[in-house]
Amino acid sequence: MEELNKESRKTPYSFLFGAIALLLIPMSFLLWPVADSEKDEWSSQEEEHTKDEEPNLYFGFIKDSFYVYESEIQRNEFLSNILLAHKVSYATIAELETATRDTYSVRRLRAGRPYAILNRDTTTAADYFIYKPGAFNYVVYSLKDSLYAEVFYHPVDTVVRTGAGYIDHSLWVAMRNGGMSDALIGKMEDALAWTVDFYHIQKGDQFKLIYEERLIDGEAVGVGRLLAANYIDRNGDNYAIYFENENYSGFYDLEGRPMKRAFLRAPVRYTRISSRFNPRRLHPVLQRIRPHLGTDYAAPHGTEIFSVADGVVTAASYTSGNGNYVRIRHDHVYETQYLHMSRFASGIRPGVRVKQGQVIGYVGSTGLATGPHVCFRFWKNGVQVDHLKENLPPPEPMSEEDLPLFFAHRDSILPILDAIPIIRPDVKPAFEVVDRSLQQEILELSR
Ligand SMILES: [Zn+2]
Repeated sequence: MEELNKESRKTPYSFLFGAIALLLIPMSFLLWPVADSEKDEWSSQEEEHTKDEEPNLYFGFIKDSFYVYESEIQRNEFLSNILLAHKVSYATIAELETATRDTYSVRRLRAGRPYAILNRDTTTAADYFIYKPGAFNYVVYSLKDSLYAEVFYHPVDTVVRTGAGYIDHSLWVAMRNGGMSDALIGKMEDALAWTVDFYHIQKGDQFKLIYEERLIDGEAVGVGRLLAANYIDRNGDNYAIYFENENYSGFYDLEGRPMKRAFLRAPVRYTRISSRFNPRRLHPVLQRIRPHLGTDYAAPHGTEIFSVADGVVTAASYTSGNGNYVRIRHDHVYETQYLHMSRFASGIRPGVRVKQGQVIGYVGSTGLATGPHVCFRFWKNGVQVDHLKENLPPPEPMSEEDLPLFFAHRDSILPILDAIPIIRPDVKPAFEVVDRSLQQEILELSR
């Protein structure tokens, strides 16, 4: 199956690589930075309108007819503080509060968000208060004649972009250096966390991705869906393809199996492996050869330890060797155990059901331990095995009826993903806008 797929991809790959390279080069001047969603967009708003040759339009108002005051809501500042300074009476403010309760309550105004006051005549009360809760919408409060609030949404454009980079320290650092947002980094982790152990990745690993970006007036305001990704490590390609139809949605491998697996790769985040599974190890405390039938993850005292899979707690107790430990049965084949905890998470006791990723305890050094770490043990049919070498059963692929649709989608998007050039390690990862027609094609594909 694997071989067959590689074969069938060769033809579109070489053809499309040339085509896409040609399309991408002229587009390379379009290297927009990703806007922080928290960024204040007032200044860009004006610039955009200038470009659109609508210099007078300001949130739907003729700007030249008003005095415009712009600021942002301060901590502990109330709407009344703001409006009183612009000659709006207490009575009006109280009425406004009632009148806008069902449309956009003034209680929803938040410190740090930008606002504007529009006033025709500054010797009298202001006419409008405009509040911007986020990049996608704004609220107009009418302060004269009839008091009301109305929410307006900016038209949002979706463009498809590609990204790539080399790992130096971590995926997070590499994507951050490439100007990619935390939201996008989170999506990469969601797609690949079960196949790639992001907390123990190697320098020199590479990644590629195709994703949607949301634009308002040409300004990036956030990411949409991650459409496809590949994380290339020493074991080769790790593909994740986003697919959505009436029966399925999420990330799938090339065979149409969900990326989400029954077992997480590690029981702790942001740690290093301090000792691997080793049947002949010199024990650091006992100073003699004793098999090490687990994997040690060194982590600061108090770090969260989570269950690597759904299951039932069979033990949460203490022995002089294990210290505080939790044991979990996942099914009739697999069990896991977590040793040397400083304490258990609340509610963790025998008989309790736990979910994958649920916190069951905290890193410590109870029992026979030289420093804070979690010794993670993995049982298969009652025998302790090295979970990092275990070929865990892959999840079932999607149904026979849906697979052909998925394969067609995969075969269209994969050549585009493969053709993304990998940036040399000495060059900062950058990203490109996919050509318009190609973009349309991808958007149609993933609708
Ligand atoms: Zn250990």
